[in-house]
Amino acid sequence: MPPVFRFAPSPNGLLHLGHAFSALLNFDLARAAGGQMLLRIEDIDATRCRPAFETAIRGDLGWLGVCWDGEVRRQSEHFELYRQAVTRLSEMGLLYPAFESRSEILRLVVERERSGPWPRDPDGAPLYPGDAKALSAAERARLIGSGAPYALRLDMQAAVARAGDLSFIEHGAGPDGETGSVPARPQAWGDVVLARKDTPTSYHLAVVLDDALQGVTEVVRGRDLFFATSVHRLLQQLLGLPRPSYRHHRLIVDAAGRKLSKSNRATSLAELRGSGVTPQAIRRQLGLPPSA
Ligand code: GLU
Repeated sequence: MPPVFRFAPSPNGLLHLGHAFSALLNFDLARAAGGQMLLRIEDIDATRCRPAFETAIRGDLGWLGVCWDGEVRRQSEHFELYRQAVTRLSEMGLLYPAFESRSEILRLVVERERSGPWPRDPDGAPLYPGDAKALSAAERARLIGSGAPYALRLDMQAAVARAGDLSFIEHGAGPDGETGSVPARPQAWGDVVLARKDTPTSYHLAVVLDDALQGVTEVVRGRDLFFATSVHRLLQQLLGLPRPSYRHHRLIVDAAGRKLSKSNRATSLAELRGSGVTPQAIRRQLGLPPSA
C-alpha cells in the first residue's frame, strides 16, 4: 500500500515559514514514495479559526507548489464522529467531568505549590491539580444538571493501566534525539482534557481519529508535537485504531532563535510573497531541494 501523508494546519492565523517547511516536507516525501498527500483543516476551535485563514492557507500552499489529493477534510464538519469516540471512552470508564474553571485550576496549583513544586507537562503547563475524579456519581449528576460548564478529562492512571506499555515508531527525532522505537509516556501529561461541555473534542482526540479515518500512515510534523505523540499513541490503543509512524522535524526559528508564531506578520508567507520572494527561494532558505 502506498504511504499516506498529510498536512494539518489550523486556520487561526497566516502560515509562516515553519508551516511551509512542514507542508513541503510532507509533499516531497509523499512524491518520493509514490504516496498520497492530504490536506486537513483543524478548525475545532470556533473562537479562533476563520474561513478567511483557510482561504489564505490554500492560496499559500498553491503558491508553494504543494498540491493535495482528494477532498480537504474540515474537522468542524465531523463533530459527531468525535462525540461517538468520547462516548466509547466514557463507557470504558476512562473519562470524568471536571468542573473547575481555568482560574480555579491556577489557584489550586498555587495552593499545591506552597508545599513544593507541582509537576508540569512537557509543554510546561501544570498538571491538573483538582480532585474531580473523586466526585460521587450523585454530585456529578447534580453539577451537570445545574448547567455548570465542565471538561471531560482522561483518567490517565486507568487509561495507562488498561493500555499497558506502548511505543511509537519515530523516523525523525525528538528533542533529545529519540528515534526508532520510542516508549510512549502519556503519564507526563496527567489527566488531559479530551472534550468540553460545548466542544465535542480536543486536538488530541480529533487528530488521532482523523489520521485513522483518512488512512494516514506517516505523520510528519514539527518537533513541538513530539511529546504529544505519547497521548496519541495511548488513544489509538484505547480506541483500537491503527498506528501511523512519525517523523518529527526540526523547528524553523527566527534570527533570534525563537520559534515562529502566527501572530508575527513579518515571517508570514503572505508577507514574503508580497515582498517578491519566490517559492524556490523559500525552499533554498529551508534547506529543501528545488522542486522538480
Ligand atoms: N493542527 C496542528 C497545528 O497546526 C498540527 C497537528 C498535527 O500535525 O498533528 O499545529
